[in-house]
Amino acid sequence: MKCKICGMDINEKNYNFNESAFTNKNTIDNIIYCPFCGVSKKYLSENNEIIEIDSNLLNEDTLKILDHAVKLELFNGDFYNIAALMSKNDKVRKTFEALSRIEIIHSKVHQRLGGFANAPNLSKISYERYDSDNALLGLAKQKEEHAVSYYEKYKNEVNNMNLIKIFEALADVEKDHIILVKE
Ligand SMILES: [Zn+2]
Repeated sequence: MKCKICGMDINEKNYNFNESAFTNKNTIDNIIYCPFCGVSKKYLSENNEIIEIDSNLLNEDTLKILDHAVKLELFNGDFYNIAALMSKNDKVRKTFEALSRIEIIHSKVHQRLGGFANAPNLSKISYERYDSDNALLGLAKQKEEHAVSYYEKYKNEVNNMNLIKIFEALADVEKDHIILVKE
């Protein structure tokens, strides 16, 4: 089985990867999401399809939107990475670690779709004032809400049908993250 969005192969060895980032878990007999980028079952393919986009067909605005999406997801991945190191509760830490890996995969998806050769170098942000797990979870919720609104706004401004689908798939993943960090 292959994920049409991130292109990863899903099998009996990795189906439960990142499971701390999901409210409903995959089982070996019932794979309901991609363990790498988090998209739901309808984006998984039994015959190794993947959604490809020819970046030469994307207009300048769409490339800008994708470039910004790379950065948004990288910043969020970086935040979760730091939040995991700061968190005191084991379960929260595991959730942040898994979320960090998933957001970084999202940034790589956008990088590939936009045909961008290199990941950008982002400035480091200090999260020191978020000095409890609850404060970190609160910020996580804000970041996920921002990501959802980004995808929902800009899916209407890109000039490619497949990209609209991908933005919808990723918005759903981030919506699930909002539920997860609220718990
Ligand atoms: Zn995937």
